Formats: sequence, structure tokens, C-alpha cells
Amino acid sequence: MRYYSTNGKAPLASLQEAVVKGLAPDKGLYMPERIGRFPDPFFNRIGEKGLTEIAKEAANLFFGEDIPKKALDGIVEETLDFNIPLVKVEEGIYALELFHGPTFAFKDVGARFMARMLSYFVRKKQQGEVSVLVATSGDTGSAVANGFLGVKGIRVFVLYPSGKVSAMQEAQFTTLGQNITALEVDGTFDDCQALVKAAFMDSELNDRLHLTSANSINVARFLPQSFYYYWAYAQLASRPSADQVIIAVPSGNLGNLTAGLFAKQTGLPIKRFIAANNRNDVFFQYLRTGEYRPAPSIQTLANAMDVGAPSNFDRIVDLYDSSHASIQQAIDGFTYNDEAIKTAVREVYQRTGYLLDPHGACAYMALKEGLQHGETGVFLATAHPAKFKETVEACIDNPLEVPERLKAFMSREKRSLLLPNDLHELKKVLIARS
Ligand SMILES: *Cc1c(COP(=O)(O)O)cnc(C)c1O
Repeated sequence: MRYYSTNGKAPLASLQEAVVKGLAPDKGLYMPERIGRFPDPFFNRIGEKGLTEIAKEAANLFFGEDIPKKALDGIVEETLDFNIPLVKVEEGIYALELFHGPTFAFKDVGARFMARMLSYFVRKKQQGEVSVLVATSGDTGSAVANGFLGVKGIRVFVLYPSGKVSAMQEAQFTTLGQNITALEVDGTFDDCQALVKAAFMDSELNDRLHLTSANSINVARFLPQSFYYYWAYAQLASRPSADQVIIAVPSGNLGNLTAGLFAKQTGLPIKRFIAANNRNDVFFQYLRTGEYRPAPSIQTLANAMDVGAPSNFDRIVDLYDSSHASIQQAIDGFTYNDEAIKTAVREVYQRTGYLLDPHGACAYMALKEGLQHGETGVFLATAHPAKFKETVEACIDNPLEVPERLKAFMSREKRSLLLPNDLHELKKVLIARS
């Protein structure tokens, strides 16, 4: 499969180039030249299959031209060694719980899949190690670090702002060791991001190391998230109204939603998607008006969705040939402020006993608002509520049980390298440790 850039000014790339580069040289996003389709019988029988089996078939449809089946199956098996249950919350409304992976948030699947695909390419080319650089304000760092932990041929450097991430987040990427190095930068998240950008532009570093980013725009990171949508559908497929399934997605950079739209292009009979925004409502406004106006991000309780310029937006536009009308037809949108999020967490808990996290709460509300008579709704629960312990406890007036596996991170020894906000110092560390 060849991959083109949404900006149309870069040469076509192989899967390997698209995965190693991440962003195309013209700063566009890579798109596959074709999206395969499953034959209809595939969906008639999907309810009989398990998650891993379905994911293998989807991975094969997207990546099978470039990676032999056996290797690809192995990547899928290693990625999905945890459950993704569909839980009934109330009549006609289900939560697809994406938070049972190592870091208790949905980015685990994309990060793990990408790590293993990158490792496959490194081994096949028998080239030197690849160094992954990632700046984080919290959750991306933990998903990437845990996703790449122990994967051969890859070193990971996580840059984070000292004193500006929560203790629980910090523990998830500073206690791992092995091929993961945490760099604690004396500066802000923006400084970390600027350092990473400068490192990618630095010719000396690029001559000496294979630098790559594990950014969510990477095709190997966002596309495996399509597995969720096949799996949600599979668990409802035996019902008489299986063609009436609506899926609500808590959205930030729109990677997760885009993966769902790709799944739909392969024939998955999802009737409609709903994009749930917090107060960062750039995509909601686009759906309403057809105008895309990026804005500075606003801090909210659902902080992984605090995005003012969604990085996968151009992919959605490209997928629908720039037709606002087609996009509107496929996707509905809603937006919620912090007060609404808190009310939903409390109300749903009191009425049903189901505990939402702030991100899932946005999707739950959007589903309730957008669902029509006779439709079945699924919302994606993207993070474990215990990751937002203080917020959630304040909503429900009850202490919250933190899972043992999450607590275990907190009891391990922190190891980080203090780094001034200085490219020269960063270069020294990267070269010494690669
Ligand atoms: C990253 C994230 C989101 C947003 O996903 P996008 O693919 O960026 O739209 C939602 N919820 C949680 C918990 C996340 O970590």
C-alpha cells in the first residue's frame, strides 16, 4: 500500500516510511491510497468471533499488503492482551470500556501496536536502533512509554515539565526503566514540545540517530483503534436492531473518531457517529457551520480532550472529499462544560451505579442527546475513573477504589534525568544513551 499526504505536496510513501516519519515532509497527514472493504458475510458472522480474531482480520485489511500475516498476527496478539468489555449502563446505552490496558486509558492499543510495528521494521531492515522522542503533559507519555516498554530495537525518551504533571501520571513513565528514559525538563509543556521539535530539525542528531515521534497522527497509532468499533458492533450484532448502532466518541485530536470512520469505510454498518467535545469545541463548531477555526486550548476536567487544533481534522476532511455535507451526515456533534461533566458523573452514578470518568461523561451525554427512537447507543469510555480520583470523588461524595495495578506504579522507584530547557544538553543525553 502506498500512502499519500493530505497536503498533496509530498511523494507517495511506503507503510514503513509513513510509520517511521509520522508526518509527511509537506507537514500533511499520511492516508492510504485505498481502503479495502470486507465482504458482507464478514459482518453477518462477526458476532461469532472474538476480539483478537476480528482485530487480526482488520489489521490484515489495512496493513496486510506490507507485513506478512504471521508477523501481523503476532503484533495484534501482543497488543491486545487485555479485555475490552461492552457494559450495559441503562436500556439502549452501553459503555465500551477501553481502559483495561496497562495505563488505564485507551491510547494503550495504538501505542502498543505502533511500537511493535516499528520494531518489526527495525528488525527487518537490520538497521540500528530507533529513538522515539515524545513530549508529554501527562497521559501520552505513559501510554507511549508503556506501549514501547521492552520492545526490541527502540529507545524512548519522554520529556515532561518538572512539577507540572500529576504524581500518578509521572509514576507511569518514570518507574519503568529498561528502554525508557524519563527526561524531567526545567520548563513548561510548551518548552518540552519546542525541544522535541528542535531535536527533529537538528541535522547532527539526525545524522547520528534514527529519530521518530510516536505522535497520534501516526498511521500505526490511530488506525488500530478501528478494532474498537468492529468489536463494539460484534457484541451487538445478534440483536434485531444491529443496523441501528450509534457510537459516541470523546474527542480531542480526533484520532479515535477517525479510526471509526475508517472502519465504516470498510463496510462496518455503524449508522452514525457522535463526536463529543468538552469546551474545546472547534470540531463541534465546524460541524455546525462548515468553518474550521482552530483556537487556543482551554483547560477542562476532561483534559485529554483539551485540544484547540485537532491534529486529525484534515484526515476526516480528506476521507469525505472535503464535503461538509457528507461529514455532517456521518457525524453528529455536541459540546459540554465542566459543570455538565460533573453533573453527569454524579447523576449516572446515583441512578445506575455506573461510574463515568470525565471523558466518558462527555460521550455519554452526547449519546443521550443524539440518540433517536429505536437506535442503540455505545459510548467509548476512554479512561478509568480512578485516573481522575479527586474530581470523580468530589462528584459522587464517596471514596473511590484505586485498582491495585494502578497503585503499583506509585510504589515503584522514580528515575528521571533532570534537564535544563536547552537543546545542547538534550543532544548530549540522546547521543550518550542511544
Ligand atoms: C486522548 C484521549 C481522548 C481523545 O482522543 P483523540 O483521539 O485525541 O480524539 C479522549 N479520552 C482520553 C482519556 C484520552 O486519553
